[in-house]
Amino acid sequence: MPENQNGQYLILPEGASRILGREAQRQNIMVAYAVAGIVKTTLGPMGMDKMLISELGDIVITNDGATILDEMKVDHPVARIMVEIAKTQDKEVGDGTTTAVILAGELLKSAGNLLEQGIHPTIVVKGYKDAAIKAKEILVANSSNISIDDTDKLERIAVIAMSSKNIGGDSAKKHLAKLAIMAVKQVATVVNGKTVVDHDFIKVEKKEGGSIEDTEFINGVLVDKEIAHPGMPKSTKNAKIALLDVALEIEKTETDARIEITSPDQMQAFLAQEEKMLKDMVEKISKSGANVVFIQKGIDDVAQHYLAKNGITAVRRVKKSDMEKLAKATGARLVTSLDDLEAADLGFAGMVEERKIAGEQMVFVEKCKDPKSVTIFARGSTPQVVNEVERSLNDVIGAVSSAAETGKYVIGGGAIEIDIATGLREYAIDVGGKEQLAIHAFADAMEVVPKTLTENAGGDPIDVLVKLRQEHKKKSGKVFGVDIYKESISDMEKQGVIEPLKVKMQAISSASEAAEIILRIDDMISSRSRGGPAGGMGPHPGEME
Ligand code: ADP
Ligand code: MG
Repeated sequence: MPENQNGQYLILPEGASRILGREAQRQNIMVAYAVAGIVKTTLGPMGMDKMLISELGDIVITNDGATILDEMKVDHPVARIMVEIAKTQDKEVGDGTTTAVILAGELLKSAGNLLEQGIHPTIVVKGYKDAAIKAKEILVANSSNISIDDTDKLERIAVIAMSSKNIGGDSAKKHLAKLAIMAVKQVATVVNGKTVVDHDFIKVEKKEGGSIEDTEFINGVLVDKEIAHPGMPKSTKNAKIALLDVALEIEKTETDARIEITSPDQMQAFLAQEEKMLKDMVEKISKSGANVVFIQKGIDDVAQHYLAKNGITAVRRVKKSDMEKLAKATGARLVTSLDDLEAADLGFAGMVEERKIAGEQMVFVEKCKDPKSVTIFARGSTPQVVNEVERSLNDVIGAVSSAAETGKYVIGGGAIEIDIATGLREYAIDVGGKEQLAIHAFADAMEVVPKTLTENAGGDPIDVLVKLRQEHKKKSGKVFGVDIYKESISDMEKQGVIEPLKVKMQAISSASEAAEIILRIDDMISSRSRGGPAGGMGPHPGEME
């Protein structure tokens, strides 16, 4: 530990480490760039996949930026900030995770060059902040309108969002795109004149087996549970559904009470009493008119027997999140006390049926009336395939709902990034001073998208970039982007390469915010011991490459 740092060795615990000033910045930028480097090769339809093997030997094969970074379990604090970018992007819009991370890496690399030239980090941060605001203005100015009924365009957006996923050919992707659009349209609501899509109510359930084309849309909820008792109906038409957060069991006393039974009669009476209580519970359900019940808690064997006898189908230990979805799909109200249960609390589904899928029972609650919660049931031949289908659906649902909510789209294939870069360079001149250098650096960083798309397709990025800049000077040339098949440029609108505005907005926000946070750090103090199992703060080259 250096001893000239204001006696820090006196206040920091033994084994603590500290990195200061330029050295901290240099190291952090290096780590961020290394993280971006990992996902770079996956960008775009020509991007490669990663195979990740967990400590337990589970294998994940994916192209999804958020998943790759999450599975890597990086340790360095800056690497973790980079992982957070992908997670935020994934949560907010579902798509564009790789773009956001690569952009952040590039912003930091460009910033590193400025710091090398002696420009103060606060000037860089200020420049980046202004540039991000301007970039978003340029984005909006270059966007076009799309409505939720514009099925053709939504389908384009969906297919492009899946373009880099290795999940079968065009027909499989088109199929998934159609299902995602159906789902988004079904759950979309209009609040104060604005379209709102709550992704939480599009459930993606998966089971390996079948093919990707067997993936289906369910106008309701699929519950990965079985019907509680073999004597209950396996299939109920026109189901009247009760949702109960009640245990159909006799509660065991909490205190250490002891019941003394001294004769067989007493035992008999005691059991009869218990049975009667359970029977009463079932009676209350039956009286409400319900013929199907979903129960968040357990069901005693005796209660199961009475339910079956009454022709009521029951599913127990249903997850809370599934109960909420069932409520949204069937219109039922979640009831927490049996005494409150009334006919008005019941929901409706045209069909509730248990089906055996890949050797396991699942309960389909379908044919609901205008459900505000739906399910896409993903299928695929192997666990790897079905998992990638699930991740792709997440991206597609995110992209389609972003487009539907914001009602705007932009041209992809690196086209919009060229416009942003061009616009920012003009803006830099207006701003002047040293800050213009930072805005210029931001503009250069934006071009990492077309550059990487070209690199991954095996083309010459400089050549393509020069051509794109040239075309984009003309008003009619704004549609030009990277043609990944011809190693050149072409009209992206014609090829249908369009993306939701919201995905790009979010990528710029999260990338620039992360870059600013990382640039502001000039002192890293770690009290984790260096020799400890989790390691210290320094970059771990082995992990990063
Ligand atoms: P992300 O995780 O950022 O969404 P992707 O691997 O999905 O990363 O790649 C998205 C990028 O690929 C976007 O810039 C998009 O415009 C581009 N892209 C997708 N399809 C095409 C295509 N057919 N031609 C050119 N670029 C494409
Ligand atoms: Mg994508």
